Amino acid sequence: MLNRVEKISEIEFDLIVIGGGITGAGIALDAASRGLSVCLFEKQDFASGTSSKSTKLIHGGLRYLKQFDIKLVRETGTERAVLYRNAPHIVHPEKMLLPIIKGGSYGKWMTWLGLSIYDRLAKVKKSERRKILSVEEALKIEPKLKLEGLKGAGYYTEYRTDDARLTIEVIKTSRENGAYCFNYAEVTDFLYENNKVAGVKVLDKIKDKEFTIKAKITVNAAGPWGDKLRKKDDSLKGKKLHLTKGVHIVVPNKVFRLRDTVYFDEPEGRMIFAIPRGEITYIGTTDTNYTKGIDSPDITKDDVAYLLNAVKFMFSNVHLTEKDIIASWSGLRPLVHEEGKSASEISRKDEIFVSPSGLITIAGGKLTGYRLMAKKIVDKVAYELNIDKPCKTKNLVLSGGSIHPTDKDLFVTSINTLLLPYSTTLDNNLKGKLDILYDCYGANITNIVELAIKNDQINLLRAEVEYSIISESSFTLLDYFIRRSGKMFFYPQQVEEELNEVAGYFQTYFNWEDSRKNIEIQLVKEYKENMLEFN
Ligand code: FAD
Repeated sequence: MLNRVEKISEIEFDLIVIGGGITGAGIALDAASRGLSVCLFEKQDFASGTSSKSTKLIHGGLRYLKQFDIKLVRETGTERAVLYRNAPHIVHPEKMLLPIIKGGSYGKWMTWLGLSIYDRLAKVKKSERRKILSVEEALKIEPKLKLEGLKGAGYYTEYRTDDARLTIEVIKTSRENGAYCFNYAEVTDFLYENNKVAGVKVLDKIKDKEFTIKAKITVNAAGPWGDKLRKKDDSLKGKKLHLTKGVHIVVPNKVFRLRDTVYFDEPEGRMIFAIPRGEITYIGTTDTNYTKGIDSPDITKDDVAYLLNAVKFMFSNVHLTEKDIIASWSGLRPLVHEEGKSASEISRKDEIFVSPSGLITIAGGKLTGYRLMAKKIVDKVAYELNIDKPCKTKNLVLSGGSIHPTDKDLFVTSINTLLLPYSTTLDNNLKGKLDILYDCYGANITNIVELAIKNDQINLLRAEVEYSIISESSFTLLDYFIRRSGKMFFYPQQVEEELNEVAGYFQTYFNWEDSRKNIEIQLVKEYKENMLEFN
């Protein structure tokens, strides 16, 4: 942390990656694991763009079957298995219920056919294959489903993740493989030699100092900001980005509790997810064209009304209102424009543009397909650099992912046992706490426990915060509450309870003045208020 960007200013890299969302992180990991020298710059926090604002599913994309995008279904479907194997702590199989309703998107036969094709294309494991449920069976799983018009349900398996945590684990693994990755480091301009991009100017926002970094190749993985960088490079011609906005709202599970995720029709024929998690249920998403400011996409009253109305349409005796919402997020899909297509119709496929200056831009794609996108880009980079090194990420376990899912309980129980001698200073629900920590950090909770034991007073929260600072580059309270612990969305009550304590640990570590600590606390409070402001 001390020297940050300055420490690499003398190195000439093979590759610079702009953007620390899942796409950039994936590219850095692929390149570093092949032995290329690589650095990555992210202008805000890692995953602070779209990669913390998705529906948080690693999915085979059943909806793409409706668009006959067979290749995308096959690719993303099989990729789920790879991600589950390499990061089982943050990619979990989850049952999904797809109610079949009169006049809905899928009839009984279509659901059966669709899910059967899906099972085959996505090479779904036998134990996870679809079932078609009767009305009674569907209601047994989810009694809140509206009976009127209900004809049964599809029941199948998808995988849920935490997009921000997945991004951070990929960043950490790329560092372990030799990549330099900096958050709060903005690429402000390109350097050219003989009209070719030869590096970038970077503003290190932590040090407030600008540096020049050279590389043979530069990749623009700036998601929704991609065209801004192409404009800077004077290469914004031909295909352009088409941003569509997706909103999610969060309600406490005491007002809307689900056993399984439900993927359901809204009145206009689009499909929406309602996903239970932690202390909440989240509902999304919208899909509308977006042309306003990219840095913080808004949430309108219409977005909220649309999602609340969708819930009302599918569930009986669930009367959610705006007042029930306790959190929300809004993200932008960086899609590639297709003439005459509506927001939901535009393909989610990724595309690569190479500008006359040699700047390589990657656009579109999905969280689920990040590894394959990275492979495609790094294959290209390796070809340009005349390096013959194959992709290694298919079998590369991500940071924290070394425990097989069947061994998780044994692992967490052994840590619980290790901590028992200190149990007087620890929470009485220690096992529950360790389970939640495991879902964030996987095998790395051993590092957190080590930090806790080192301190005089064993305190898991303090150790977690320190770990997020030392090993995951948290610089602000929002970094910790939103993108490291996920508490802002999934355990909002804990944010209230822990805010001052966590601020104290940051203050101690960074030696903040009281004024800085108070600003940080205020920023968390404002963030919480803004999440509930709809215009
Ligand atoms: P981003 O995450 O936006 O990253 C780009 C980064 O570049 C940003 O962090 C930004 O700060 C940085 N940057 C910009 N300019 C500069 C600069 N000058 N210098 C340095 N850094 C810069 N996919 C799935 O697989 N499953 C889902 O369930 C799913 N749900 C979705 C729901 C919604 C509502 C949305 C919007 C998307 C969803 N997606 C899903 C798609 C997925 O989230 C995106 O494809 C993915 O997160 C895009 O990642 P990215 O890295 O390309 O972009």
